[in-house]
Formats: sequence, C-alpha cells, structure tokens
Amino acid sequence: MRAPAGYRGQFRTDDVARALYAEGAGIFRILPAAVAVPADREDLALLARWAHAGGVAVVPRGAGSGMPGGNVGTGVVVDLSRAFREEPAVDAGARTARAGASVTYRALNAAAERQGLSLPPDPSSGAFCTLGGMVATNASGARTLKYGAMRAWVRGLEFVTAEGETGRADARTHGRTAAERRFERDVAPGIRAHASELEAAAPRTTKNSSGYALDAWARSGATTDLLTGSEGTLAMVTGVEVALAPLPARRSTLLVTLRSLDDVGPAVQALRPLGPSAMELLDRTYLDLVRDAAQGRVPDGTEAVLLVEFEGDGRGAVEAVRHLASTTELAVDPASVSRLWELRHLASPILARLPGQQRSLQVVEDGCVPVDVLGRYIRALREAADAHRFGIVIFGHAGDGHLHANLLADVSQPDFPARLASCLEAVTGVQLSLGGTPSGEHGDGRLRAPFVARAFGDAYLELCRRTKAAWDPTGILNPGVKLAAEGAAPFRAETLKVGPAAPPIPDAVAAKLRELERAAGWAAFKLDLVPGPDGAAR
Ligand SMILES: Cc1cc2nc3c(=O)[nH]c(=O)nc-3n(C[C@H](O)[C@H](O)[C@H](O)COP(=O)(O)OP(=O)(O)OC[C@H]3O[C@@H](n4cnc5c(N)ncnc54)[C@H](O)[C@@H]3O)c2cc1C
Repeated sequence: MRAPAGYRGQFRTDDVARALYAEGAGIFRILPAAVAVPADREDLALLARWAHAGGVAVVPRGAGSGMPGGNVGTGVVVDLSRAFREEPAVDAGARTARAGASVTYRALNAAAERQGLSLPPDPSSGAFCTLGGMVATNASGARTLKYGAMRAWVRGLEFVTAEGETGRADARTHGRTAAERRFERDVAPGIRAHASELEAAAPRTTKNSSGYALDAWARSGATTDLLTGSEGTLAMVTGVEVALAPLPARRSTLLVTLRSLDDVGPAVQALRPLGPSAMELLDRTYLDLVRDAAQGRVPDGTEAVLLVEFEGDGRGAVEAVRHLASTTELAVDPASVSRLWELRHLASPILARLPGQQRSLQVVEDGCVPVDVLGRYIRALREAADAHRFGIVIFGHAGDGHLHANLLADVSQPDFPARLASCLEAVTGVQLSLGGTPSGEHGDGRLRAPFVARAFGDAYLELCRRTKAAWDPTGILNPGVKLAAEGAAPFRAETLKVGPAAPPIPDAVAAKLRELERAAGWAAFKLDLVPGPDGAAR
C-alpha cells in the first residue's frame, strides 16, 4: 500500500509503525495495513477521497485511550492527534471555547479555568484523551451526574466526511455536506416516524454511549448530536466548539460506608435530591485492592463506599443517609476533600501494574443500569466473575448507575479467552435484563458492536445501518465498529493483546506499548516511541 498522490503527511507501512498502532487501551491487538498522520485538514480530506474511491478501510484515532477497540483495525489507522492543534480560544462572555480536535481535555480545561470556567464532563483520562476522541465516544466523567456527558456540551463541530468533504455544523448550521443531505433524504423521515419507538427502546439510564444517538437527533435535528458518540464511523472530527460552565466557589465531599449492597440503591436515591455534582462508588472488590490506603477510613465488613461531591457545604447530606450508613465523614476544606478523593484514584495504577501473567481486562467494564437495581447489578457482576474464574474490581459512577468492572485474569491459561467471551455474554444479558446499557461512556467499539441489535432491537439497528450508509456509502470509516457484520464475535483469541494467540509484534514495540499502558502515557506520539527502519519516514 502506498500513500495517495499529493498527500503530504506521514504514511508508513513498516512493521514497527504498524505494531505501534496495533493496540489502544483495552484488550485488542490488531495489526493495521498502514499508519497515516495527515499534515492538515486538506491532507485528511485527500486521504478520505482516496480511501473512499479505493474502498480502503480507515480507522480514525486520537490518543488511543479508548477501551472497546474503536481505535484499532486492519485498515489504515489515521492518527488525528497531531494535525489539529489549534489552541483553545475561550469566549468568557459567551461561555464557549473552540479548539482543534487534537487538543487534550486537560489543555482545554486549563484555558477555561483561567477564566473561571470549565468543561464539566471530566474524564479520568483528561490528561491525555483528545477532544476529537471525547466527541467520538460521548465521553463523560464523575461530574456527568450533574452536568451530563459530552453531547450536552458540544456546540459546534468541524469534520471531514468519508468522501473527503469538509463540513461544519452547529445548532443552526447543518445539511451542507452531501452526507448530511443523503441522511436527511433517506433516513431522517424514518427516524422521525419512529421517534416514540426509539425513545421507548432507549435504556432506562441517565447515561448511554451505545448505538447511534438517533433519539437525541430526533429531538434536535442537529448533526452535532448525531456525530457525538459515533466513534469515527460517520465522519472524522477536526475542530470542536463547546459550552463551558462557571466553576463553583467551593466543593465539599461526603464519604459514606455501607454494610450491605441492598443499601447502595437506597443511599444513592436518598442523596440524589440534594443535587450532588458527583457520586462515586468503591465496591468491596475495589477496597480489597487498595486495602492499605483504606485502612482506618473504612471499617471492616464494608461492602461499598460512596464518595459524594457537593458544590457547597453538603448540608443535609449526612442526615439523608444516617439510617443506611455505617459511618460518614464530611470534608469541607480543600485539603481534606482531596485526601478523600485520593481513595478513588488509587486503583488504575495498581490495575495497570499487576504482576506476572495477571492482567486487568476491560470487557464488561462499562455497563450502566437504573440506580434502583445497582445492588443487584453489583451482585451479578461478582457472581459472573466467580463463575468464570476471574477476579473482579468494581468502581464507578454510582449516581448514574454506571460501573467500571475490570476482570482480573491469568492470561497464561489457554482457556481464558473462552471464559472471557462467556462472561461478556452473561454480563451483557444481565445489563439488558435490568433495563441498562452495555456502555455508559466508553462506546461500543468492536467489543460491544455485536450486542447493539440485542440492546435496542432490529428496527433501531436497521435505522443505524441506513444512517451509516448515508454518511459512509462505501463503508470505509471504522468498519466493524458500532455495527458488526452478521454473526461477528466480540473478539477472538487472535485479536487479543495478551495470551498465547496474540499476533506477534517486534519485542521493542511490545515493551514500549506495555510501558505506555502501565504509565498511562497515551499522550505520546506513537511513531516517536521506537525508531522505524531506514527510509520509513513516509
Ligand atoms: C486510565 C483511563 C481512564 C479513562 N477514564 C475515562 C473516563 O473517565 N470517562 C470516559 O468517558 N472515558 C474514559 N476513558 C476512555 C477514553 O479515554 C475515552 O473514550 C476518550 O474519549 C478517548 O479519547 P482518545 O483521544 O484516546 O480517542 P481514541 O481512543 O483514539 O479513539 C476512541 C474512538 O473515537 C474515535 N475517534 C478518535 N478521534 C476521533 C476524531 N478526531 N474523529 C472521529 N473519530 C475519532 C476512534 O475511531 C475510536 O472509535 C479512560 C481510559 C483510560 C485508559
């Protein structure tokens, strides 16, 4: 494969470059045919026209921190983390900011904070994830409880379509590209006609990053709503405009320890009316992992901890849960508040550095259920892990019923991929039977694409397929992501980054990628990690 004529960016097909882009966060290792790093918007548009004409699959990619395999694939991985670095421009009066899609959340938020503002969806990955990746996955964070996910804050997008047309959309502007016109002509009438069924088929949860947001589009008619959460399958985002919120004058945090899982749902429901900005859960499986740090703060026999943030002094919060809590601790000064939150930030580094052949695998890591069944869901997660002989660590965003569950596996055991697949199947069944969704914020990627029809029904799936066909007529953008081929499996042993069947990659690259994962170094430019062979610059 060779770069298209007139293309000015990097285009590499050597083994080193392909291996460097074979993995993102999450479980997958899939070797691409080539890696492209376009120089600018025109270069990206040219690349898209070439791919569209030749039927070449394209995998748009930001920092690569996405979990479910939307950032890897067999086609040309297009690294969008370099070219679109227009510095954040904050309009404090209008409470908006614009920036290039390659800019990280941290950089945009730092610029906003200098003006007393912030972009409220605050992913833990904010230090490295790109704004393009956040839009593509409809990313969110702890404060989504009060402020919603990324879609609620996107005001405008610049993008390049599968056919290489550049577009711009905001609340008033849409329908200017051929893709949007086809969508409006061929698919929009069907969506409008089925709007009430789409609402009914949507999960009973406050968060969802699974499927296309046809329900949100039906309400607003805005291209921005449809592209947000489309995981690089409809268009490639190059610029972002977001709304900002004022920073609160103060924050307080309440730590609540609970002796029974049956008290989790009622405690969440007792606290929600007080308007918390975040409500995080640390399950017993999490507390076991961080035992030393939790000692003294969390009594023996605790089944779950809630960390609840208020913008203000948290008045009334202790009273609201007194009948359920075994202990409470309210922090109001900034130093005590950050000491309490340290407990929430301990797990990711430990999970990334498990010893020997132990790995933390993100396969059922993103389910979201209605809060009244949260206790039942935690029990089901623990049981499914036990039944499939995995360890499990559960934590997440209790206020939204959204839990991260990492399976702990010994990847030297030859049957672990089969157990993993069976566990995924079982847990997805539980999520759906509880009225939930397989993805609260990470997206479907390749991993959850096979479950979209089961989650939302055949009529919804058909509208998604028509949406995809309107935006991407030759199916080049991230094939297999969000919409799976008939009968496709979520993964195979040969597409995993761990285990004996993992595709071989050069040792130097494997070592660098493992180091990057352990240190959460996703912001690094991957082509800089290992020198390519002579003459590999293009
Ligand atoms: C330690 C850790 C913590 C995390 N915490 C959170 C969290 O709190 N909340 C949360 O929501 N997520 C979290 N994530 C997941 C991840 O960071 C988010 O999904 C993030 O939005 C991905 O951004 P990225 O730039 O890394 O995108 P990538 O991983 O490169 O891509 C993700 C998806 O977006 C598509 N994409 C990327 N850029 C573009 C673009 N410019 N145009 C079109 N499509 C594009 C890709 O094709 C892919 O499907 C976490 C991940 C890690 C490793």
